[in-house]
Amino acid sequence: MDYLKELNPPQLQAVQHTDGPVMIIAGAGSGKTRVLTYRIAHLIYAKGIDPFNILSLTFTNKAAAEMKHRIESLVGLEARNTWMGTFHSIFAKILRVESERIGYPSNFTIYDNDDSKSLIRTLVKEMRLDDKVYKPGVVLSRISGAKNRLISWQAYQADPYVKADDESAMKPRMGELYQKYQDRLFKAGAMDFDDLLFNTNVLFRDHLDVLNKYQQRFKYVMVDEFQDTNISQYLITKKLSAVHQNICVVGDDAQSIYAFRGADIQNILNFEKDYPDLFVVKLEQNYRSTKTIVEAANSIIDKNKAQLKKLVWTSNPDGELIELVKAASDNEEGRIVANIIFEEKNNKKLNNADFAILYRTNSQSRAMEEALRKMSLTYKIVGGLSFYQRKEIKDLMAYLRFTVNPVDEEAFKRVINYPKRGIGDTSVEKILVSAYEHDMPLWEVVQNAHSFLSGRAGGAVDDFATTIKAFQIEAERKDAYEAANFIAKQSGLLRELYEDKTIEGLNRYENVQELLNAIKEYVDNPENEDKSLGSFLQEIALLTDNDQDKDKTDAITLMTIHASKGLEFKQVFVVGMEEDLFPSQMMMQSRDDLEEERRLFYVAATRAMEKLYLSYALSRYRFGRLLNCEPSRFLEEVDPMRIKVNKRVASKEMPGALRREGLPGSTGASKGFVGLKRQPESRQPIQLKIHTPSPDFKPSNTNNLQPEQLVEHPKFGYGKV
Ligand code: ATP
Ligand code: MG
Repeated sequence: MDYLKELNPPQLQAVQHTDGPVMIIAGAGSGKTRVLTYRIAHLIYAKGIDPFNILSLTFTNKAAAEMKHRIESLVGLEARNTWMGTFHSIFAKILRVESERIGYPSNFTIYDNDDSKSLIRTLVKEMRLDDKVYKPGVVLSRISGAKNRLISWQAYQADPYVKADDESAMKPRMGELYQKYQDRLFKAGAMDFDDLLFNTNVLFRDHLDVLNKYQQRFKYVMVDEFQDTNISQYLITKKLSAVHQNICVVGDDAQSIYAFRGADIQNILNFEKDYPDLFVVKLEQNYRSTKTIVEAANSIIDKNKAQLKKLVWTSNPDGELIELVKAASDNEEGRIVANIIFEEKNNKKLNNADFAILYRTNSQSRAMEEALRKMSLTYKIVGGLSFYQRKEIKDLMAYLRFTVNPVDEEAFKRVINYPKRGIGDTSVEKILVSAYEHDMPLWEVVQNAHSFLSGRAGGAVDDFATTIKAFQIEAERKDAYEAANFIAKQSGLLRELYEDKTIEGLNRYENVQELLNAIKEYVDNPENEDKSLGSFLQEIALLTDNDQDKDKTDAITLMTIHASKGLEFKQVFVVGMEEDLFPSQMMMQSRDDLEEERRLFYVAATRAMEKLYLSYALSRYRFGRLLNCEPSRFLEEVDPMRIKVNKRVASKEMPGALRREGLPGSTGASKGFVGLKRQPESRQPIQLKIHTPSPDFKPSNTNNLQPEQLVEHPKFGYGKV
């Protein structure tokens, strides 16, 4: 068969070794994902395996869709029936079928981050705790960390070390909060994202018949990006493949970037112990990038102590040097990047989609967006504040959710008095407290609210209950689109937005229409068998941040480095290469943290196929203030033979603009980096180094280099500014 010719010898080995455990740990761009894809095709085509018996776990839904597509093109449409998706989406699907076994309704709601935080806020209030100590985000990540390590609230409360930890963090009631949080989720018929995995583990642990059913079904299990699985995920895959033992994992320890979410590199090492007859494949040839990029990436990751040594080489041409871009401000950085893209597009006949701009934190997109918009360059933001995070969308979604699952507390709080129907906060509180104190389902309380709410409020809640009942009937009889349309209108939400004639109001109205369009699309898609509202809601809840905006044609991609894993682009800009931004200030607690940041830099650099740009600004607005910045230490770590300085300025008016912005760059330019300033020939390698007299002396900012200050340059040696 022809497709096997598209593989090199070790790749071919991995594809053909279909039975028994297989592990591929190899560098970026070496074809790991390709091997998985071809392996599935091979199982179906050459081994006659029913696609229904194959399970593949990917990092994003988008990656799954792409793999499916590719497999279809190799072996035909039947490939559609393979089980492929993220851990969360696959196991939500299974839980949907099995949840009653663990006491959840099958129409359980999936809470997103905002819902979870809001619930925690409520609990903190109820428990009369200090919300400055028990911050929702902090509490949530502590709970999340526990769940990802499969620590239940019972185990959490029983562990003296955990207790000591919480006490020293001034949060002695954390364990109690965890318990209450779980209890309320359960009562609301809701799971948060971590619960999807946690509860799958519970399901498989306590119901062996269920486990056995899926063990029989999934004869072949495959996991991409294995380095980023946490213990909870690892255990699920291990259990599922325990009968057939046909498990194939691929990953790269150098790209492990989710330790902060509980991903554990130890899984790779355990794998060898768990499967003694493991077949290990090494892939060393990179097909993605130029030699320059591959070598530079190697030079970056070399600085990490904790890594499995492996070789990555390429027979691709050298390609262009990496370009270092220095800007006076974040706005100027945006303008330069936009200018370069504009020129490169013209000179090399490239499309927008050939470019990606990667950053460490979402907020950095603003300056980039502004510059791209000014140049009329089409872009899309992947992740960040997405469509589904917008208020009006959340409002309608809350109506839909409450219709399907009328004990969903967070949805209830959103819609009970929106649009306004004369139900005040006190009444809402009374309803919630009543449900809580009598341990009654929320929906029951709502239906009987007139018995404890007086006059107007009681009547209004009655009306609300009647409205929701009408919605439920609609949702039962009609498909998701018709039901949602009905709900949008009858709830009064559409009218409310329609009457707001401001631009924002108009926008919001359009957004709601857009959501209805999306539901229509969902209903019309023949691949979706279940067209009910409940099924649509599940699909949406599982859209990961990384999957949004995928439909814009030919657009420049803007995203965080975390979201870029597994992807590739012809030209890649890694922006904001500054100390405290990248490496991130928040991730600088220990050497391990720094190494994780460095792996993140490795991931970013290895997304580029043809050309890589690294940029930094000398000043930037952060936390509402204009801060001076210092170039990232990572810039010094790139092999100096592979990088050159870009001499571009943002626009002709730049110097004036700089003066207007009152940025230090206008004067700072002359005393900036000696290395950068005096570089005579742009194609010569450069090296950045600030002379630091003692390890604990750190110039707060290169921009603030004082006259007479000592600096070190590799070529020009030591000198004074
Ligand atoms: P990452 O670590 O970034 O996830 P990866 O190891 O999964 O990378 P792939 O994305 O599978 O790598 O492959 C990188 C690129 O190299 C893709 O464009 C792929 O099509 C191409 N490629 C991989 N193997 C071959 C091959 N044998 N012949 C030609 N091209 C290949
Ligand atoms: Mg990959």
